[in-house]
Amino acid sequence: MSALLQVEGLKATYGASQALFGVDLQVASGEVVALMGRNGMGKTTTVKCICRLLRAEGHISFDGNDLRRLPAHRAARLGIGLVPEGRRCFADLTVQENLNAAARPGPWDMGKVGLLFPRLDERRTQVARSLSGGEQQMLAIGRALMTNPRLLILDEATEGLAPLIRQEIWDAIGQLKRETGMAILIIDKSLKELTQVSDRAVILNRGRTAWTGALDGLDPELAHRYLGV
Ligand code: ATP
Repeated sequence: MSALLQVEGLKATYGASQALFGVDLQVASGEVVALMGRNGMGKTTTVKCICRLLRAEGHISFDGNDLRRLPAHRAARLGIGLVPEGRRCFADLTVQENLNAAARPGPWDMGKVGLLFPRLDERRTQVARSLSGGEQQMLAIGRALMTNPRLLILDEATEGLAPLIRQEIWDAIGQLKRETGMAILIIDKSLKELTQVSDRAVILNRGRTAWTGALDGLDPELAHRYLGV
């Protein structure tokens, strides 16, 4: 059976400088995959290629569709929901306006997002710019869920957030996994939480897939080499 997301031999360049030299990664339906690697190893670039925000060479398919043939908005419509690095919420719109702007038909609606993130629900009428960083991240996740994706991609899920709110976000991701079986591709630096939530990890080194497997089986020497931990 082929994976929901299948990436093989992915290469990408920024102008004259090559960033990806051969990324292979797969996410099956219902699987949570951690995309890891030190700074600058190509994680965000890989996500941009998957979401068609950057041109790439190699094979990228989603649910059997060749993504390289499609523009970004069509990739989103196929069911890829992105929570981008830096969140990018509409600062002057309220929480509910931000969520509504993303809505597409399916089981996820404002009520379900509010149950997942009660803290957001309490702030429905607040403008996004008045939220804390963690609350904005919840809003960015909520907005991606409102598109009713089959694959949720989180780039830097909890980077730079306060510990308490980070925990709330990890809890929500665990809940999504347990209760919805949504496929998730997640970038983050917290090895402990990623080991708990992910089924498998793909580690990038200098723009290439260097290792893949369950994180609890990662050899300490490789963890040091590829993750700096
Ligand atoms: P980080 O954890 O720091 O976000 P990353 O693994 O996501 O790192 P990328 O952001 O994908 O890494 O970067 C991969 C390589 O591409 C790096 O060498 C980076 O300097 C380069 N790069 C990223 N964005 C650009 C850009 N807009 N223009 C030129 N080079 C870029």
